[in-house]
Amino acid sequence: AVPVARVTTAPPVTSAAVEPQVVGAGALVPLDDGGSVSYANFDYAASAPCLEAVQEAITRALPYYSSVHRGAGYASQVTTEAYEKARETVRTFLGAWERDAVVFTRNTTDAMNLLAHAVPAGTTVVVFETEHHATLLPWKRAVRLPAPASPLEAVSAADRALAEAPAGPRLLVVTAASNVTGELWPIAELAQVARRHGARIAVDAAQLVPHRPLDMRALGLDYVAFSGHKLYAPFGAGVLAGRADWLRAAEPYLKGGGASASVVDHGDTAHWAKSPETRHEAGTPNVLGVIAIAAACEALAGTGWDSLVREEERLLARLRQGIAAIPGVRELTLWGEGNARVGIVSLVVDGWSARDVALRLSGEYGIGVRDGKFCAHPFVRHLLGAPETAQRNAGGGCGGGQDSAVRASFGIGTTDEHVDRLLEALACIAG
Ligand code: PLP
Repeated sequence: AVPVARVTTAPPVTSAAVEPQVVGAGALVPLDDGGSVSYANFDYAASAPCLEAVQEAITRALPYYSSVHRGAGYASQVTTEAYEKARETVRTFLGAWERDAVVFTRNTTDAMNLLAHAVPAGTTVVVFETEHHATLLPWKRAVRLPAPASPLEAVSAADRALAEAPAGPRLLVVTAASNVTGELWPIAELAQVARRHGARIAVDAAQLVPHRPLDMRALGLDYVAFSGHKLYAPFGAGVLAGRADWLRAAEPYLKGGGASASVVDHGDTAHWAKSPETRHEAGTPNVLGVIAIAAACEALAGTGWDSLVREEERLLARLRQGIAAIPGVRELTLWGEGNARVGIVSLVVDGWSARDVALRLSGEYGIGVRDGKFCAHPFVRHLLGAPETAQRNAGGGCGGGQDSAVRASFGIGTTDEHVDRLLEALACIAG
């Protein structure tokens, strides 16, 4: 149980900004010719810059820096209170039920691995091949579905797979917004399908929550995972929120202090904490990361979302129309026009490797993009029509090779000038 901190003069630990601003906007970066230019950051999908409100929350929390749940000192009480308040802020941000667990993890990868660890033995997991590796790989027994030709087909493929799954628990795992194409997946419809089959649904919301509001209760989602560093809170914490029963029944994800309610027999026997949060958050947590996530949630929710979404859609239309008008530059999409998407665009430039495009964008124009396969190898291969044979053993990590793409992703702080600079640079490189 969390000790009740009796704090009378606790400093505020989070704040809501009406119009969020990012830290470091306009910072100069060096160019190959020895000059410099303000950085045009198109790599938000990898890690988004820090919001000013997040920086302020961290600065306010630092003087009371301490571990949580263990100490009786003032700083420990203040920090524990901030940490547990952050849990409730995240719950509200996600629209999770009061009864849901909100477990702080390191990131989305960690959250998905925690869920994989907690699913009961014999659970059939259904997952699309289009997923980020964090969401594609952790499962012991998975039915992998090929890239669907339309959102409708995604729903019917999931429907069929769940209908054919053997008796026992079933879990449908799906991304809400693709980290490759930005396309939004029909998670409401997929949740309905899961429910019809008595299955649960887990949603990778890493690329959704920085761009759109999410309401787990309204959508009927059982689990949601996301990372702070993609949500303008770059301090290495993440979240798994959702139904508590599997988490409560599972062995602790990590064994150690915090997860153990009591340890006897000279260490031979541990009685684990019952609450899913305590059980799966062994060790000293990333308190500042958690406070950062809560501050980002409050700042984004504090805008009311409408203006953020409108501005993002305006810039995205400008970028995509501009790309479509450049001969030799092709955007990668799974479902083509007409499907809603967030501010993420992947593309290829005829005659150029993705790495060389990315290096020229950086060195000549001060534009930061990502190149590679974005930790979604099967999906990027599918979009490029690239054979798998060329990929086997082709380098480690998340990308590389001739069969890769360039990804431009953006959000709060991105301007028309950034978009136009990127378009001009792409036109020069392609031309
Ligand atoms: N899921 C999606 C859709 C992502 O874009 C990413 C990161 O790129 C992840 C999961 C993994 O996130 P993290 O590296 O923070 O664990």
